[in-house]
Formats: sequence, C-alpha cells, structure tokens
Amino acid sequence: MDWDEFAEWGAQISECAAEYHKTLTERPVRAQTNLGEIAAQLSSTPPEAPEGMAQILDDFERIVMPGITHWQHPRFFAYFPANAAPPSMLADFLVTTIAAQCMLWQTSPAATEIEGVMIDWLRQAMGLPDGFTGVIEDSASSATLSAVLTMRERATGFTGNREGLNAKGNLRIYCSDQVHSSIDRACWVAGIGQDNLAKLPTTGRHFAMDTKALEDAIEADTAAGHQPAGIIAVTGATGVGASDMLVNVLDVAKRHDLYTHLDAAWAGSAMICPEYHSAFWQGVDGFDSIVFNPHKWMGAQFDCSVQFLRDAQPQLDTLKIEPEYLKTSGSPVTNYSEWTIPLGRRFRALKIWFLIRAYGLGGLRARIRNHVTWAEEVCAAIRAMDGFEIVTNPILSIFSFRCPGDDARQQRLVDALNDDGRIYLTQGMHEGRKVIRFQVGQFDTTRDHVMMAADVIAEVHAAVA
Ligand SMILES: *Cc1c(COP(=O)(O)O)cnc(C)c1O
Repeated sequence: MDWDEFAEWGAQISECAAEYHKTLTERPVRAQTNLGEIAAQLSSTPPEAPEGMAQILDDFERIVMPGITHWQHPRFFAYFPANAAPPSMLADFLVTTIAAQCMLWQTSPAATEIEGVMIDWLRQAMGLPDGFTGVIEDSASSATLSAVLTMRERATGFTGNREGLNAKGNLRIYCSDQVHSSIDRACWVAGIGQDNLAKLPTTGRHFAMDTKALEDAIEADTAAGHQPAGIIAVTGATGVGASDMLVNVLDVAKRHDLYTHLDAAWAGSAMICPEYHSAFWQGVDGFDSIVFNPHKWMGAQFDCSVQFLRDAQPQLDTLKIEPEYLKTSGSPVTNYSEWTIPLGRRFRALKIWFLIRAYGLGGLRARIRNHVTWAEEVCAAIRAMDGFEIVTNPILSIFSFRCPGDDARQQRLVDALNDDGRIYLTQGMHEGRKVIRFQVGQFDTTRDHVMMAADVIAEVHAAVA
C-alpha cells in the first residue's frame, strides 16, 4: 500500500467511523454471536498472496462487526465504561501515525514533556496538592503492580530485587474485601502471595474498610513476626462502588509506617467535580500512590491509566534500570520508562491533551454530574417496580438491584436482557447474594437512554417471569 492509497482508505474509514457512531443505537449492545462463530469464518491458514484492501474491509463489516460488543453504545450499563471521546480517538490516530516509542525523553521529547504537563493538569483538576508527580501507564493493573513492588522493596530495605524473597519472611499487604482482582494478581506476581493479602471487612453506607479490624490485623501480624508492607485503599470498587474512608486508613498507615496505594480506577474521573470530595476524597493527599483511569469514565480512548506519586523516588528505586544502550548524555531528564515495568511506551498523553482542550474541564464535569443524577433517577424508577429491590444505593453512578426470586432468577433476567440487546447489564455478588449492577457512564448517553432501561427491564422481566 502506498501513502496515497492509505489516504483514500483512511478517509473512507473515518466516514464509516462517524456513521457507526451515529447509528449505534440501532445495534444490539452485546454481541449476539455464538462461541466459535467468528473464528469459523476465517481461513485457517494465512494467505500466501496479497489481498485487496476492499476485500479486507468488506470482511471486517461482514465477519468482525457482528462479533463486537458495543462499548460506545449509549445504553451500555454493564461493567464500567470504556469511553472513547472523538477528540481522543483523533489524537490516538495521530499517535499511531507517528508510532514513536516514548520510553526516554530523547526518544520523543514532546511525549515526555506533554505527559508531565498532563499529569499536572489532572493533578490540579482532581484537587491533589502541588508536589505530586506521576506517570501514564497502560492499565490500573500495571500501576497497582508497580505500587505493590514498591511496597515490597521499601519493606525489605530495597533488597528484594537483588536478593530475591527467599529469606524475607512474610510480607503483608492489607485491603478491604471489596477490592478488584488486580490487587490479588499484583500480590501474586510480586511474590507476596495471596495468603499474605489480608482482606478486611467493610462497614457503613459506602462499604468502607473497617479500620479497627485493619489495626488489629497489623498488630497481630507484627506480633506473629510478619512484616506489614503496605495498605491498598479503594475509592469506587468494581462490585458496588465501595469507597474507603481515606483519612482513617491513613491514620493507621502513619502509625505503622506503611506505604499506601489508592485504587480509584473508575471513580477517580469523578473527582474533577469538587462536590464529591467531601464524601470520597478527604485525605487523598496523604496517599503515596494513586491510580485512576482516564480511559474509563473521563473519555480518553483506551489505554490510559494515570498513577500519581507523592514522592516518585521509592518507585524509581524499585523499577529503574539503566543499561548502557538506554543512557542519555547531557543534562538530567525524565525518562518515564524508569517509572514503570514495560520499557516501550505509547504517546498516551496526547489524547488527554486533546480531550481536555476539546471539552474543557467544564464539559467533562457536566457529563459526570449528569450520569450521577440519572443513576439516581433510574434507581428510583426500578425501586418503584413491583417486587424489585435496590440492594445498594447509588455510589456516584453505580447501584445494584434484584428482581423477585432467587439468584438463578437474577442471572436469567440478566441473560434475557442481554439477549434482547437494547441494554447491557452485568451481574455481581454482594454480601453473598447475586445482584444486577447498573452503572451510568457512557460518554454519549442521555437521560432518555438511561430512563428507557427501566422500561426494558420491566418488559423483559414480565416476559421471562
Ligand atoms: C477497572 C478497574 C481496575 C482494573 O483496571 P485496568 O486498567 O483494566 O487494569 C482496577 N480497579 C478498579 C476499581 C477498577 O474499576
């Protein structure tokens, strides 16, 4: 393909992309294909001879599209959102065009410098104090792994990387029983082990970690000769939005000199609205590490996860490695690959720059506020439905409910709704019972899309009951 042909196909794909988004509500939200149906349509061997782009794109429409679940559908209420606002998509197209590796300052100075400024824009937008720095990573899972490795190294006097963990005894990490599975996996991979991740019960309206239980666990572990290494708090957990009381967690961490990491992967985006700070963000400035995903609620095309650091040095002491071929001469510069696990990195800051400039913080805040309001409204509508029960009230824009009947009934309703295709919901477990989760957060959703969900739920429930 020469570059003139590229331009022609590129123009055609842009048009298809706009058309796709404009007509998205006509498609079922969740893919309606059966297992293996897509793979069966592909040739089982790679072609020897070149094929034309027209044929390839035809096959994209014919084979691929039916097997896609539409995350940008305005009636996507499942999981958490993965928004891709159009300006961020354009930015990512430019990033793909340049295709630079942004591991060192000198491998693309603009990428490093814009990343530094974007981290600082977001720091200000989210009310974090001056002095926090940070880095953009692929996912919250990676940022949490970096933080857990830092906890490990700090607790072992920065000897774990060199000596291994064989003689280090039991390092212990603490969190609530609401945390995301990425916390468990970070502990597996960091050599801490699942059995050394203590999951504490929660209390109160926001299902916050019981910090008395936290204190007791740390004291018991210390008495038993184990070594507490860190605490992981959560704001807006995946199940039903559980959010810890950050001040109380920090009190305990300070008393025991523990490194702290906050997982705000989803809810962090809402913290650009100052009115949510009193309930969710008090004390956040005391955390050593904070992760949030602009690629979820905020609108930056996946992948884009921000890790803020109160002091970057412990993480650099944990992850920095500098072979000769990566050394840069001249004055000291920021090389973001030293802050994270992967070496190669995309120019992810560009989509944040485009996104914030195209909407302004005001435009981004307005969406989040609408989502929270509409979640409350649709929650009230479901509460009023015969036999339906709200299990957890809205925490920001997530709540959970049950229809009449046992756990099997809940799953049957979820499956029937997703087969129907007008909306998409997923299930969860809360306090031993299956619940149906509902979150509002898609970038283009409107009040009508959200309220229509209550009617669809009532109708489909009546049909399967
Ligand atoms: C989505 C989510 C994660 C995982 O995020 P990735 O970027 O996919 O790794 C972790 N924690 C919470 C609370 C989340 O919502």
